[in-house]
Amino acid sequence: MARTAVSRRLGGGPLRWRAARLTDRRIESEAARTLVFEVPGWPGHVAGQHLDVRLTAEDGYSTQRSYSVASAAEDENVELTVQRVSDGEVSPYLLDDLALGDLVELRGPVGGWFVWRPEQTEPVLLVGGGSGLVPLMAMVRTRRAVGSRTPFRLVYSVRSPEYQLFASELRRGDPGLDKTYVYTRSAPPESPRPPGRVTASDLSSAGWPPDFEPTCYVCGSTGFVEKAAGLLVALGHHPGRIRTERFGPSG
Ligand SMILES: Cc1cc2nc3c(=O)[nH]c(=O)nc-3n(C[C@H](O)[C@H](O)[C@H](O)COP(=O)(O)OP(=O)(O)OC[C@H]3O[C@@H](n4cnc5c(N)ncnc54)[C@H](O)[C@@H]3O)c2cc1C
Repeated sequence: MARTAVSRRLGGGPLRWRAARLTDRRIESEAARTLVFEVPGWPGHVAGQHLDVRLTAEDGYSTQRSYSVASAAEDENVELTVQRVSDGEVSPYLLDDLALGDLVELRGPVGGWFVWRPEQTEPVLLVGGGSGLVPLMAMVRTRRAVGSRTPFRLVYSVRSPEYQLFASELRRGDPGLDKTYVYTRSAPPESPRPPGRVTASDLSSAGWPPDFEPTCYVCGSTGFVEKAAGLLVALGHHPGRIRTERFGPSG
């Protein structure tokens, strides 16, 4: 009896593992897919949060990884956009082996700092590297879904056009969202800048002046986040207004 009461109390919270069924998948780029899950009892999320995915093999071996929620906070399904790490254990499985109708377990949402809420009215600078665009896209989608006019600027650093996530959706455009692409290895002919890593000049010309007191969200590999956040501080942005999320090894 006491046990039932405890499990009921824990039942609605983010720490509980929930069964999630894959209902759709979309190609996002050469190396990434969006996976759409139906998750009965999902408590909802705030844009920028992530969750844990747990996979369990028939022999009982189990492993888990974190993924940002890509969908708008308003969406009832949970969308994850997973980029392949070619020698990885989990991302190739999610991209190649998980079939429509299959179940995984999800736990979350997690995170209360790297989030954007529609009540925020200050300008926003989003700085994403590679798959680090995913939680930033949840913020863009949430802003669109609620009809927010909060000014957003996005600086997206990506290897080459084939690796660009959410390309057609971003191309359609959102009023009040300015986008700048920084290609690190090969740039399309019309790109105003040669390929190379993000610089202070990129963040200064495509971002906000520090005097505007924007909230800056920086997400990507550990190396990318440290570099970009360091450049923002050097440009005069207050460290307390720079929120970061690291996806893993440097690169
Ligand atoms: C909070 C959070 C949110 C995340 N959100 C996303 C997301 O939305 N989309 C997404 O695709 N990934 C996301 N990740 C990364 C994800 O959790 C996994 O690390 C990634 O999918 C690789 O897992 P794997 O099992 O395929 O590789 P592993 O088997 O864990 O690693 C294989 C090799 O790749 C290296 N490696 C591990 N992770 C990365 C990485 N991210 N980049 C480059 N090399 C890596 C390892 O050092 C190792 O050498 C997020 C991570 C965190 C912490």
